Amino acid sequence: MTIAIAALIAVGAIVFILTVRAKDLPEPEPVSPFQHLDERKAAIYENLRDLQFEYRVGKLSDQDYQNTKKDLQRELALVLAEVDALKARLNGAEQVVVQANVNGFLCVSCGAKFEKQLKFCGECGKPMKVARA
Ligand SMILES: [Zn+2]
Repeated sequence: MTIAIAALIAVGAIVFILTVRAKDLPEPEPVSPFQHLDERKAAIYENLRDLQFEYRVGKLSDQDYQNTKKDLQRELALVLAEVDALKARLNGAEQVVVQANVNGFLCVSCGAKFEKQLKFCGECGKPMKVARA
């Protein structure tokens, strides 16, 4: 497990270094959770363009064109739904709420317990908002 994580970090670092050198540009956002979805979306759009081109040059029958187009549009809808779901999940994660009880204040993000109310969790560093009942 530890080896796998170490390998992953090493590969990530190498990829990061290579991409920075190749482009010679600052990375916009190295680990965006939307990146793979954006890539899938771009790939689907490209497939749609290719499909349209092949249809126009007469490589595809009407039936094939309509079926493939429908499949791609369905796939696109799935990706867009996934983006929405991910956005909703991320927004939810930002609204970190702390549960106050007699034992202290709990960080909802990591479960750490504190005697006093803190602005930021001392364990995970996430902002702690107190939920008022
Ligand atoms: Zn925490």
